[in-house]
Amino acid sequence: MEATTFVLFGATGDLARRKIYPALYNLFLDHKLHNSFAVIGLGRREVTDEAYQAMVERSLRDFSRREVKDTASVRSFLKAFRYNVLDVGHTEDYVKLLERVEQVETGMGSTPNRMFYLSVGPEFFEPIALNIEASGLGAAKGWKRLVIEKPFGHDLQSAQELNLTLSKAFTEEEIYRIDHYLGKPMVQELDVFQQTNPVLHALWNNRYIANVQITAAETVGVEERAGYYDHVGALRDMFQNHMLQLLMMLAIRLPKDSSADEVRFKKREVMEALEPLDEANIEASVIRGQYTAGAIKGIPVPGYRSEAGISAGSMNDTFIAARLQIDDPFWKGVPFYIRTGKRMKEKSTRIVIEFKEPLKQSSTVEEDDIPNLLVFEISPNEGITLQLKARDPRNKGKFKAVHIDFHTSSIEVPEAYENLIHDALNGDPSFFAHWNEVELSWKWVQPILNAFAGNSVPLYSYAAGSHGPAESDQLLAQDGHHWWLDAPVDEASEITLPDASNF
Ligand code: NAP
Repeated sequence: MEATTFVLFGATGDLARRKIYPALYNLFLDHKLHNSFAVIGLGRREVTDEAYQAMVERSLRDFSRREVKDTASVRSFLKAFRYNVLDVGHTEDYVKLLERVEQVETGMGSTPNRMFYLSVGPEFFEPIALNIEASGLGAAKGWKRLVIEKPFGHDLQSAQELNLTLSKAFTEEEIYRIDHYLGKPMVQELDVFQQTNPVLHALWNNRYIANVQITAAETVGVEERAGYYDHVGALRDMFQNHMLQLLMMLAIRLPKDSSADEVRFKKREVMEALEPLDEANIEASVIRGQYTAGAIKGIPVPGYRSEAGISAGSMNDTFIAARLQIDDPFWKGVPFYIRTGKRMKEKSTRIVIEFKEPLKQSSTVEEDDIPNLLVFEISPNEGITLQLKARDPRNKGKFKAVHIDFHTSSIEVPEAYENLIHDALNGDPSFFAHWNEVELSWKWVQPILNAFAGNSVPLYSYAAGSHGPAESDQLLAQDGHHWWLDAPVDEASEITLPDASNF
């Protein structure tokens, strides 16, 4: 780790308080920050350094995975934090910022390495990058890096325009695009697990794998993001970025100890091999859904179109399921089923790999539907389960599932933002989205965006609290498969009304 000035745009915002400060604090506790580390927080609000430090401390108490107990160490951590007023559009504020940054760096007596973290709305990415360049903030002797959060554009064209502007101020090697799914420990485990276990490495191909299922289900609706979400939908919000990143991480086959460049090269190869969908075959491979009224954990919830801030005739997608095919020697013929949605039965992000059963047809013994499954639970629980099949000793002729489990619930694991901020400070881009991946993802998704915009594919409904539209099940049934591990859906009779005394 090198001496760094961490320049944080959006220092008073939700993301900074919930994720960035707790991540920095836990890195500090683990001695993973350099002694010469300073944060300069930025926003339009007038805030003194002391008030800013108090806000950071509150965020640690509210959101840090480790309890804030040792006041001496918190005080020592907070010493690194200073605040400057800056309005993104005011060029004179960048001049004042440069003075403050130089003053801090002189105090630290170290090479000025600068990390610019943009925890602000995407409409600010371009003006900030250009002002960093114009003001001289980007011309320090040490390294400079830019960290940005999704969304990277709204479609292919806007993503390309954004990238072109950013590239006027930062090279690709200096840009760290956060997709926080890539920071999750279990996602970082995906390729390592396969590489380090020769048994799995040997099976990681179309000879042995029947299909791959990637699900990211949420129980929440649009909450306070209605205005934003109604123009975005599940395809842009989840599928183009997080879901395709999960697919890439699962499908890459890497030699042991691969470099960041090799990881990115392989991910790019996967995206290039993804069979494109055109207007004619979108309907057969993509299911667009929107939730209607239903119940989550027994509590009735309104349908999407009745949510505050959503227009009555909205055609926005709150669910998407798709069948994807990778046209390369390892994966050809293996369907990758991906689905993501809001107001689903359970909150869960998981990957299920179903293995083929070549001997099943010839077996004379009655067998249950118990294939070998390898399951990666990504959130909220983390773990890996291998399902094998064994003869049931109490029930002759029958088989039962045997599970080999590795769950990390009892182990303290770093949060995604800790991993990602640590890697960005260290200059390791392995788990950040390279522009090639982002652009190829938008290219793949763009025909679907067009079909949704032109309403040339149906919008299916699903009841809140279900696993999505019935058509999502049929998508797999056509291929002789079904979604694994879906919890049973409550019967309508199980709906309980909220306790009236709570109102
Ligand atoms: P937020 O709570 O609305 O905070 C926005 C921040 O931007 C505030 O600190 C605000 O400070 C600052 N800001 C707004 N206008 C400004 C201007 N003209 N000049 C300078 N600063 C300005 O937003 P957020 O939830 O933290 O999200 C930040 C970014 O992260 C967004 O792009 C979002 O999509 C992304 N993201 C957020 C989350 C999350 O969990 N929140 C997760 C993933 C991605 P002042 O009001 O003081 O100016």
